[in-house]
Amino acid sequence: MPTDGLSQDVTIGVTIPARDARGRAARLGPVLDSVLSAHNYPPVIERLLAEALTLTALLGALLKEPEGQMTLQAQTQSGVIDLLVCDYLGGELRGYVRHDPARLADAGPNPSLRTLFGKGHLAVTFDQPAAKERYQGIVPLDGENLAQAAQSYFAQSEQIPSLVRLAAEKREGRWSAGGILFQHLPEGEEGRARIHTQLDHPDWPHVAVLAGSVKPEELIDPDVPLDDLIWRLFHEEAEVRTFAPVRLSRGCRCDPDYVRSVIARFPEEEREAMVGPDGFITVDCAFCSTSFPITLEEVRSK
Ligand SMILES: [Zn+2]
Repeated sequence: MPTDGLSQDVTIGVTIPARDARGRAARLGPVLDSVLSAHNYPPVIERLLAEALTLTALLGALLKEPEGQMTLQAQTQSGVIDLLVCDYLGGELRGYVRHDPARLADAGPNPSLRTLFGKGHLAVTFDQPAAKERYQGIVPLDGENLAQAAQSYFAQSEQIPSLVRLAAEKREGRWSAGGILFQHLPEGEEGRARIHTQLDHPDWPHVAVLAGSVKPEELIDPDVPLDDLIWRLFHEEAEVRTFAPVRLSRGCRCDPDYVRSVIARFPEEEREAMVGPDGFITVDCAFCSTSFPITLEEVRSK
């Protein structure tokens, strides 16, 4: 396996200046095993979360600020899955899924996005604290898979022609996933109001055809570094620029002190009612499945 740093747990950025196109590519390996091992999800949910984390890495790589945060949330009232949340902060990824195991078992081995979520919504939030920029788009969760849902998010919420491909597979007990995101920005990244973006600009179908020719096995294959993957797709273009890679890792921001401070805000008698038979108030972090056992004495002193 190549050890050039562009094969696993990494994203890179790409621009094709003559086509007014930008792209991001992501490959995830050990970071997925690390996130997924904290949960005990059935294979269908593991694959969905692996794809969602890959999409999260691609979207996070669009942030301009290193301290920027991106949150991806898919939610429904009555789906097999009622909540999927992933977020990205400085290359750190985390995510979890809440689902109904009995209904999932009835959905078969390859359920569509519609089967899993029913009628749902996809919310994407970009937070860039230095520029005091917060942008949230919410669209119906449309399409057969998460990649299609992301494309329809960009088309509806941001009016940016986009192509998204995601793939994830578990081989010999280890997860590997990959994805690409390409977009047409004829007005530039900062550009004029995107209302005027031409959805039928001739450069875009060209980029979309080349990017769309990527095969799922190329996205996943840890023997194909991301710069090689970009080269395979765009080697006939006059100029393709790639940017410094960003490393991905598993990160959770749950904090025992914060958990204690939240518990301390409850009235004394409510806190007493929370104490379990073991003598602790136990709070779980949904993202990393860490349990925080807290005693009444600890929060009284807050
Ligand atoms: Zn946590």
